[in-house]
Amino acid sequence: MTEIRQTGDQILSRKCRREYLSGTNSISLYIHIPFCLRKCRYCDFLSAPQPQADRERYVQALIREIRAQQECPAGTSADTVFFGGGTPSILSGEQIGSIMEAVRGTFDILPDAEISLEMNPGTADADRILAFKKAGINRLSIGVQSMHDEELRLLGRIHTVREAKEAFDAAREAGFDNINIDLMSALPGQSPESWEDSLRTAVEWKPEHISAYSLIIEPGTPFYDLYEAGKLAPLPDEETDRKMYHYTRSILARHGYARYEISNYALPGHQCRHNSGYWTGHPYLGLGAGAASYVNGTRFSNIADIKAYTDALGQPARTDVHALSQEDRMEEFMFLGLRMTAGVSAAVFEERFGRTLEEVYGNLLRRHMAQGLLEQTEEGFRLTEKGTDVSNYVMSDYLL
Ligand code: SF4
Repeated sequence: MTEIRQTGDQILSRKCRREYLSGTNSISLYIHIPFCLRKCRYCDFLSAPQPQADRERYVQALIREIRAQQECPAGTSADTVFFGGGTPSILSGEQIGSIMEAVRGTFDILPDAEISLEMNPGTADADRILAFKKAGINRLSIGVQSMHDEELRLLGRIHTVREAKEAFDAAREAGFDNINIDLMSALPGQSPESWEDSLRTAVEWKPEHISAYSLIIEPGTPFYDLYEAGKLAPLPDEETDRKMYHYTRSILARHGYARYEISNYALPGHQCRHNSGYWTGHPYLGLGAGAASYVNGTRFSNIADIKAYTDALGQPARTDVHALSQEDRMEEFMFLGLRMTAGVSAAVFEERFGRTLEEVYGNLLRRHMAQGLLEQTEEGFRLTEKGTDVSNYVMSDYLL
């Protein structure tokens, strides 16, 4: 559990919050729902199984926190809302409806706002999905992860492939025409053929968006302990992992899914606007336990202790307040922007920082181009295929 630090100037007063929001015309909202029916064996997200009564108390605290933002200046609008977790679909349609009512009562939600909710297929039934639609959710992100039941069991997921497909079909039936499915590669013992098979089944479902991430074994998870004890089936080696990544790109491209970020693929017009905001420096306000914010150049988080958050009844102490320096912001501009296939724009860099890309990163850009890791675009620079394969290494070079 994240250490709670509530001392001195780390706690934001209401006045500060108002100042953070002033001058910000449009923001993204992130709403954290930290509950799951059961913890997956690889998961280190802020989530835990909790009784229904505790979930309801949390929802009430969250609604209070949302309403407490009413001090934000008139005209602050929200262009995306994202319910993440945890498992937001563990909440009832009524609970999601009440949260959305508070959001609409507090923020000016743009008419074409993207309003997403993450759904675990093990918590989805047709009535609940319909209620989410009626509450205003217009995009679902379904955690399918694998098209093989034995892999789902290994991961500790609470659903089967058949249940995932039923949830997907129920979402279509309810009228959702913007659906993402999450898939996970590089699982212990997974063969490239098994991954290829998951991808082929996924495209048959025809979601509008596919997120395909490689598993990372995080400390503090059951997978980590098993891995350390040598009891986990071998992970695919680097070469196999790269092979899986290239399968992903080619299979999805053949079916019309364009890669727009290192791990994200979409049919035309269906890139995730909320997540794209993270990669392009758009401000966001996080609500709920542990939720992170980035507003007017300052980062902060809510306390990550679910009980402490709930007991604070909408007045959560914010921690880890950090005003980013110009250098911090330039670094982020580069290593987040280079995640996108569009790359970074030289004009936007100059407009934002009053210095040219050449001035700040000229030598490095030239070196990366000479190494075949970067290429020039009309707007600026982007990773080549070779650069994408070693993206972590490339991006770390942009730290000033
Ligand atoms: S459903 Fe998601 S948040 Fe919940 S335990 Fe599994 S991976 Fe973690």
